[in-house]
Amino acid sequence: MTWAEPSSTATALLLLGRGSDLASERGVDCPGELPAPSDPDLVARAAAAKAALGDRLFVLGHHYQRDEVIEFADVTGDSFKLAKEAAARPQAEYIVFCGVHFMAESADILTSDTQRVVLPDLAAGCSMADMAALGQVEEAWDTLLDLDIAGRTVPITYMNSSADIKGFVGRNKGVVCTSSNAERALRWAFERGEKVLFLPDQHLGRNTAVLQMGLTLDDCVLYDPHKPGGGLTAQQLRDAKMILWRGHCSVHGRFTLDCVTEVRERIPGVNVLVHPECRHEVVTAADYVGSTEYIIKMIEAAPAGSAWAVGTELNLVRRLANAHPDKQITFLDRTVCYCSTMNRIDLPHLVWALEELVAGRVVNEITVDAETAHYARAALDQMLALP
Ligand code: SF4
Repeated sequence: MTWAEPSSTATALLLLGRGSDLASERGVDCPGELPAPSDPDLVARAAAAKAALGDRLFVLGHHYQRDEVIEFADVTGDSFKLAKEAAARPQAEYIVFCGVHFMAESADILTSDTQRVVLPDLAAGCSMADMAALGQVEEAWDTLLDLDIAGRTVPITYMNSSADIKGFVGRNKGVVCTSSNAERALRWAFERGEKVLFLPDQHLGRNTAVLQMGLTLDDCVLYDPHKPGGGLTAQQLRDAKMILWRGHCSVHGRFTLDCVTEVRERIPGVNVLVHPECRHEVVTAADYVGSTEYIIKMIEAAPAGSAWAVGTELNLVRRLANAHPDKQITFLDRTVCYCSTMNRIDLPHLVWALEELVAGRVVNEITVDAETAHYARAALDQMLALP
């Protein structure tokens, strides 16, 4: 069935800064001379550079990436699958990660020291990861230490966080989780402590705690890093089982309950399928909730003629619609909703990064210092060891 493109968004999803703040997930200018987007030879140039590099190159494409870039990916997937794929290709000297900054960091942590990870545009960051800075999280932990509850609190960070935060969690005997294994991570944590500090996505933490673990909304408190003590009283922190960090995804956070109501009126019998990074009221009103990989599998397994409204990033939803013309697939929102930072990586940036590698120059390399990588790896390994 025909895909209907949502109308354009009136405002930018995320204001991108300029400058050179390497500590930030976004707002970093790209050095170098990029080819013009209008260059008719871009596709041929990317193909030629890829062919010249051969097995020395491995290109990873996140599901939310543009089609023009996905075309050159050796493998597509979510962030964790891609990092594992990179680690499984030791012969690849260069890992070009068409995703965002924290994903490239995870790839650097999981690959060998001789492999070099490149992010074609350094401005491709993640607004959610940027919502939890190491200093803020250490301050929150100090608050818990002062209240004498840190020892009973297990930190969990979502994969979508900086290497610094993964390192903090590893140092404090916590675990990384993905949207596929958040429930298992929470069960593991509650066997070791009475409370969880969940970073940085409040929605994934709340949705998993309430819908999968049977906790109540009252068991959850929201820690605001911009307020003293997180904006919470000592008693609130003592009573809480889930201390949720005030972070969210600027893409999935846009879907509202009105979107669900509207699509159900517009398409009778539609199945509403959303990502757990969506707000609690959206997830509660949906028919199915799951990770990006789950969403893909649900659509693949759906019967011909069925109707689906999908609440995740638009590039992926459009690709699913085009791949399954026998099903009616629509975007949950009426307006477009891209991961604007990931979409910074376009064909000119990819061509530039690949041609520089052919010339023997490694540009936009992403590296994580050895100590941070050590502890981040501990938290990632703990995730892999989850029962
Ligand atoms: S979709 Fe959301 S969580 Fe994923 S990279 Fe973009 S801003 Fe970050």
